[in-house]
Amino acid sequence: MSNKTSNLFYQSRAPRPFLDRAEGIYMYDQSGKRYIDGSSGAMVSNIGHSNPNVLEAMKAQMDKSTFGYRLHFRTEPSEDLASMVAERMPGNLDRVFFVSGGSEAVESAIKLARQYAITQGKSSRWKVISRFPSYHGSTFGALALTGYDPLARPFDPMMRDMPKIAAPACYLDRDNLTDEQRGLKYAELLRDEIIKQGPETVLAFIMEPIGGASTGALVAPDSYYGRIAEICKEFGILLIYDEVMTGVGRTGSFLAANHWDIEPDIVAMSKGFAAGYAPLGAVVARETMVEALLDAGGFLHGYTYAGNPLACAAGVAVLKEIDRLSLIDNCAAMGALLKSRLEGLMERYPFIGDVRGKGLLLAFELVSDKDSMTPLPKEYNCYLELVELAYERGLIIYSRRTRGGVEGDHFLVAPAMIVNESQIDEIMGILIESLDALAAKFDLPVNA
Ligand code: PMP
Repeated sequence: MSNKTSNLFYQSRAPRPFLDRAEGIYMYDQSGKRYIDGSSGAMVSNIGHSNPNVLEAMKAQMDKSTFGYRLHFRTEPSEDLASMVAERMPGNLDRVFFVSGGSEAVESAIKLARQYAITQGKSSRWKVISRFPSYHGSTFGALALTGYDPLARPFDPMMRDMPKIAAPACYLDRDNLTDEQRGLKYAELLRDEIIKQGPETVLAFIMEPIGGASTGALVAPDSYYGRIAEICKEFGILLIYDEVMTGVGRTGSFLAANHWDIEPDIVAMSKGFAAGYAPLGAVVARETMVEALLDAGGFLHGYTYAGNPLACAAGVAVLKEIDRLSLIDNCAAMGALLKSRLEGLMERYPFIGDVRGKGLLLAFELVSDKDSMTPLPKEYNCYLELVELAYERGLIIYSRRTRGGVEGDHFLVAPAMIVNESQIDEIMGILIESLDALAAKFDLPVNA
């Protein structure tokens, strides 16, 4: 087949091979070459590809109906899925609003927050504080919250940028603080920003509990999470957790919020929710909040495809598979193993400056000097180079060159939650070959 394509979906000048089929953590192109899906796509295919029970459930739903507009019908899959989500959420988060992706989920979360504030007589509140760097999506509302200049700045004249505080990139700090003190230091940035903006104008604070595309699995010190929640409470500001990437088990708990016993006011989820079987996302909030909105005439927001029965049937089946196979436990166990294996690489490759993450949302970062955490030269383009070296060898990983303030090459390693020990060996084997090749190409030091 020709390399020329009219499909704008492919943004790369050098098109990737055609995908033929995928099963479990493996994907095959049309030439028959096998790839380990070491990043679950973009942290999406959390239960692996071609799960027969999910496919069966989707086929059964397809035979019944594939669309029912929400103003005309309720559907069993969306009702069932909403109850299953509510059962798994912390505290009183039991009202679910379905969408078809992560940006839609974030967009819906901030509109829900704003409309709720109006019902409470707080229409002066509209600013949503977020973090820098961060990633919250590509639609204008979500982009205004996204702390990543190359994506956002071209659209400045067309949107209202929102205030940002520094993400807690403590691994770059060179101070004498303890982890706990650092966590508190970064949390206080929120308090300062609220005061600077004027608390009566601040609607919400949104954060990725564990960074994803922007910061490469950045986990804050434990003290950060509770203090942020306290500050939001103090000023009556809604706390929104963007769990689009971290939700539905990926970090070894249903929500990342569970690791710190946080009950956010609003949670956005997508990616692993229908795990790549259908476009699906959700916003979850408390009954009291949603009832206030409904009393005031309803949520002024909605997407035609929301609650699509086929997508919801996939979502139900995915949650059932996660339970049946105890995938969240497996994710925690395999995540701990993979993390220790990645940490083990730091001895051989002194240019690995940091390994971080939780569950199977793990990352490593490359540096030219570990003490100062100086990034590798930009012109090396290591974030692309290593991905290519691994891809050639049949391993897919995900990379970005962003971090707090300065740039740095980081790589997400996030296989599906079904991964087993021998597959982790396979991933590590190819990763080591790829890092050796990278070191040879740029003359980076390797310890025997
Ligand atoms: N929020 C977070 C934390 C994400 O990681 C992403 C996607 N990388 C989004 C929102 C946007 O999701 P989508 O691409 O499905 O619109």
